[in-house]
Amino acid sequence: MGTILGFPRMGQRRELKRMLESYWKNEIDAQSLMQESSALRQKHVSLLIDSGLSEIPVNDFSLYDHVLDSIVGFGAIPPRYKPLQDDFIRLYFAMARGERGANHNTKAMEMSKWFDTNYHYIIPEFTRDTLFDPTLMIQKLRHSIEEAAQIIKEKGATTKIRPVLLGPISFLLLGKSSDGSKVLDLLPRLLEAYCSIAEFCTEKGIATVQFDEPYLVYTLSKELQEAYKTAYKTVKDAYKGIEIFLASYFDDLAINADLVTELAVDIIHIDLQRSSFETAEYIAKRCKAISLGVIDGRNIWKAHISSLLSTLNAFLSEHSLQRCYIGSSCSLLHCPFDVRGETELDAEIAEWLSFSLQKVEEIQLLTSALSKGAESVATSIAQYDEAMQRRERSTQVHRAEVKKRVSEIDEAMMKRKSPYSERKETQKQRLQLPLFPTTTIGSYPQTAEIRKIRAAFKKQSISYQEYQDSMREEIRKVVDFQEEVGLDVLVHGEPERNDMVEYFGERFDGFVSTSNGWVQSYGSRCVKPPIIYGDLQRKTSITKEWISFAQSLTKKPMKGMLTGPVTILQWSFVRNDIPRSETAFQIALLVRDEIEDLEKEGIGIIQVDEPALREGLPLQSEKHSEYLDWAVKSFRVASSGVEDTTQIHTHMCYSEFNEIMRTIIDLDADVISIEASRSDMELLEAFKEHSYPNEIGPGIYDIHSPRIPSTEEMIELLQLARKYINDEQLWVNPDCGLKTRQWEEVSLALRNMVSAAHFLRTRK
Ligand code: GLN
Ligand code: ZN
Repeated sequence: MGTILGFPRMGQRRELKRMLESYWKNEIDAQSLMQESSALRQKHVSLLIDSGLSEIPVNDFSLYDHVLDSIVGFGAIPPRYKPLQDDFIRLYFAMARGERGANHNTKAMEMSKWFDTNYHYIIPEFTRDTLFDPTLMIQKLRHSIEEAAQIIKEKGATTKIRPVLLGPISFLLLGKSSDGSKVLDLLPRLLEAYCSIAEFCTEKGIATVQFDEPYLVYTLSKELQEAYKTAYKTVKDAYKGIEIFLASYFDDLAINADLVTELAVDIIHIDLQRSSFETAEYIAKRCKAISLGVIDGRNIWKAHISSLLSTLNAFLSEHSLQRCYIGSSCSLLHCPFDVRGETELDAEIAEWLSFSLQKVEEIQLLTSALSKGAESVATSIAQYDEAMQRRERSTQVHRAEVKKRVSEIDEAMMKRKSPYSERKETQKQRLQLPLFPTTTIGSYPQTAEIRKIRAAFKKQSISYQEYQDSMREEIRKVVDFQEEVGLDVLVHGEPERNDMVEYFGERFDGFVSTSNGWVQSYGSRCVKPPIIYGDLQRKTSITKEWISFAQSLTKKPMKGMLTGPVTILQWSFVRNDIPRSETAFQIALLVRDEIEDLEKEGIGIIQVDEPALREGLPLQSEKHSEYLDWAVKSFRVASSGVEDTTQIHTHMCYSEFNEIMRTIIDLDADVISIEASRSDMELLEAFKEHSYPNEIGPGIYDIHSPRIPSTEEMIELLQLARKYINDEQLWVNPDCGLKTRQWEEVSLALRNMVSAAHFLRTRK
């Protein structure tokens, strides 16, 4: 039986994004939004039915986020939104994005990353008084079930539909309690709401319901294990005659293999990209049915159909196919839509790729081969085999010089010439910076004008000369502005970069960008991760021309700006034929070359951004140290080739530091800037605890908000920071890049920031 756990929502041409944004701009009304989104959903259901999958998910669609759908669907609406309750759509988007009106200002709910993906979900807010009510969830289910059933009927198909729900335990664990109560205490109440959906499902003739429980791949306390047992016993009792399909994904299920088989569920889904077939064997022997997530829902490579078939055949010699689903490792939400949209791609590379629709075809191919025999689909299988062989042998993939260089990385390359205490002195001599030096994180506002010029150059409708002139003009403007405001360490403003990862990706051999490979990041926002397909090489120096031009305009130090190896890796689709760590080292060498070029140009400060360092952490804590080890090493390979007098900065933007404090110290960057303004500097506690010796710039301007902080406010934050770190260590800077802000805001906020630093210098 072929199936997938969920399908991308955006649409082939990001139709959902367009309709949402038109609705938010009041160009279409709520009714049109509902109609258009329903049409999009129906199109997707139709595609899935035609693909031949035997069972397809429904209710996995969401206008904004599936966790928000659970919050609203189960009525867990925080009190501040209650006044909007009569207008469901308004309520929903007020929770997602906040609402600003003439005399009210409703804040959005908080967002966070969905496990180790780049998708953001809305964090449920609970209190001990939270009540649940499934009315809206039933309504949503009704729409999606009826819609799909109608299409199946029209087509005369036999496809089964399987409603998807976020499992109750994961729903609670994803949330936060705002009154100190324990979220798990809400379980009995929440289960009641889940159970009252059962009757509706039976009425609709539903045979199977999918419960997503990604928390099942974590190490679970005794209490949580018990909660899982109770929850699914209660669910199973209520869903009489309906099969419970329990979905886990994103890490190795082996740690809870015994637990899942003790749960009162019928089908257990295992992510076979992250778990082994042995674990699947173990579970299959102890449960009614198993769902084998063999097709990678997190990456874009064609599957090795032949080798999968032999593994599956071996597995099926012990288990009957009737008791197995063959499917995607997780929801296809994290994959782009259709590789056939990539007409610009190098044909050789395009042949190796598989986006959502192709993944569905792969599942179909596997199930046909398993049920009707491989001969029945021999031609397709042969095509896969040939494509795989071409990929394995491709000279675009394998470059001996790159492999050799990586193999020659040694300890010495990961070490600065002298320890920080000595470097500090030579840097001080060279840079002559005041106490509390002021700087920014790199980007300045990206105006429509800049985007237009970049786009024109990309389309080759303007010459390189014209493009360079415009970018230089922008750099000059940014430099003049910083001089005028009185910042101490300047930046060039990054006008030439569309995105901090894609920009470098486009300039490395071994990387390709897609034209339509969009993946939802949050709400209507999508990202287009570049694809790393081969050993990485740099054609020529990338940043030198811009940074040295910027430096030529000022006597103040110009900070060179680069993206670090882990962030480039994390925000790209990566190779699956070599370990992630090896790709990280390949990138590290290229960043090292960039740094060397900048240093030769006389640039004295270079920042290597690693905002994604933390999110690369594997879910299971036993795997953290292995990851952190190569993550640190790759940063150090990138940044340690410089002279003592060159100051290396890094930047991170998230606030949970404790967990990776050791790693931050190990990076041995001379200066680190971090997002901090929302946390009232409390995160500096960790730096104090570890007596972090290097310099730190805790952000004092929240760049995610249009608000302009006053000088006094920033002084206050700096005073707080001084409780944790010495004056000699403290830098003054915003939380992150200023790319998304308006010039007027930036201008006012940075002037206040510089005044705050001046105040401290004079009143010390
Ligand atoms: N240098 C980048 C910028 O200023 C850093 C962005 C980030 O941390 N996400 O935009
Ligand atoms: Zn940042």
